[in-house]
Amino acid sequence: MDENCIFCKIIKGEIPSNIVYENEYVCAFKDLNPVAPVHILVIPKIHIQDLEHVNKENVEYVAKVQEAFKEVAKIAGVNESGYRVICNCGKDGGQEVKHLHYHLLGGKKLGTKIIND
Ligand code: 5GP
Ligand code: ZN
Repeated sequence: MDENCIFCKIIKGEIPSNIVYENEYVCAFKDLNPVAPVHILVIPKIHIQDLEHVNKENVEYVAKVQEAFKEVAKIAGVNESGYRVICNCGKDGGQEVKHLHYHLLGGKKLGTKIIND
């Protein structure tokens, strides 16, 4: 855990969030500034900076995140309608919070473009 990381603080319950699902490895909570009717952040419960920092020691947590998407989608009611998962990495990827996280977006038909430039 990184004591200066806001997502680690959310995991520890030190700052409030709207958690929709969690287990031993994964926490999923509503994004503070949603860009779609469903916008949930799914994160591992250990501090991994980004995809560049996934390794043999922490990959189990990342695998558990992959496994959790369908649970989160079901809870959010988008498992049948569909959804998009986005992971920003680093400066050019537009990553603002330096704790690996996946945006689960849905609740409407999303545009076909996956980038804005
Ligand atoms: P990034 O740009 O790093 O991929 O996405 C960071 C996301 O975290 C943004 O969508 C932003 O709205 C969200 N966010 C930032 N701070 C907080 C917070 O304290 N609580 C919650 N729930 N979301 C946050
Ligand atoms: Zn963290």
